[in-house]
Amino acid sequence: MSQFVYETHSQSGILLNANENPWNLPDSIRQEIKDALDTIAFNRYPDDSYQELCEAYSQIVNIPASQILAGNGSDQHLGFLIGTFLGKGKNLLTLSLDFGMYDYYASSYDAGIIKYPVDPFSKMDVDDFIHFMQDQDPDMVLFSNPNNPTGNFLGLTEIQRICDAASCPVVVDEAYIEFAQGSALSLLDRCDHLYVTRTLSKAYGLAGVRIGFLLSSQANMDALRPSHVPYAVNSISAKIGAIVLKHADLFDEQIENIKKERDRFAMLSLQRCRIKPSQANFILIQTPAIQALTQAFKENGLTIREYKGKDYCRVTIGTPEENQIVKDVLISFDKEEQ
Ligand code: PMP
Repeated sequence: MSQFVYETHSQSGILLNANENPWNLPDSIRQEIKDALDTIAFNRYPDDSYQELCEAYSQIVNIPASQILAGNGSDQHLGFLIGTFLGKGKNLLTLSLDFGMYDYYASSYDAGIIKYPVDPFSKMDVDDFIHFMQDQDPDMVLFSNPNNPTGNFLGLTEIQRICDAASCPVVVDEAYIEFAQGSALSLLDRCDHLYVTRTLSKAYGLAGVRIGFLLSSQANMDALRPSHVPYAVNSISAKIGAIVLKHADLFDEQIENIKKERDRFAMLSLQRCRIKPSQANFILIQTPAIQALTQAFKENGLTIREYKGKDYCRVTIGTPEENQIVKDVLISFDKEEQ
């Protein structure tokens, strides 16, 4: 078991609760980071345009670096956008279920929150969502795609229809996009009120380094840039991000592995649990006996994401060894007397 213990993390055991990459950075990248530390001017403020980092990301997404803003995790960008477009008397439209930080930021800026209810185990009805949106007339629309925690994914046509029908900024949070197919980024030229957030915390294994990106049209980025907090990313993180992105291809195999393992979960044939097919690096598991299941996970050293008062939990896809433990728990739970 010792290989699963994250010694520098405040939590111990097998951590499948925060949708992190289960592998620490490859040795070759770690060595390059150590060498690069010697080149950092610690006494100087960072380059506030984060040119090296944004150029490196520009290569990955094929969007000019001038349309990319680096931040302290995508969380910071989400807060920034909510602070920019919302405030007292204004409303955020999001989904129920979706990422909990949207509520946190909207409340901290005194904005109202409208939630479009989505059955976690069905596909979202985009026509109905558009009617709801037009009825509610929100000041900003924000949702994650793939969705956290359902793993649902809306395709390009659906995102475009939402953007076309919206009369306010539409923010698509693509924290898990590397585990899905397609991205709203290709719509940036066509949809002038579309904003996309990305992160290096998930597929690129840099949750501890805190780097996120905000992308939009050139005009939108020119308008936003002056009000963004200066020096949002520290010099060490910016350097690490640039190095990791230079070796982005090293993560392809990990991503493929995670996707395969995830899809195998959805194929498990279980009587007591439903597993939602997912386009992200986690799965949602539903069972009427959720407490017994989460207890079984805990007894096997697994930390997973629980939802108070709900009959489902979310489990991050880990290493194959970690996933095997999850499968064993599920299979023996399934055999228990009901
Ligand atoms: N969006 C979603 C949907 C997330 O699940 C998370 C992290 N759990 C974030 C954004 C924040 O990621 P970051 O580490 O870039 O702040």
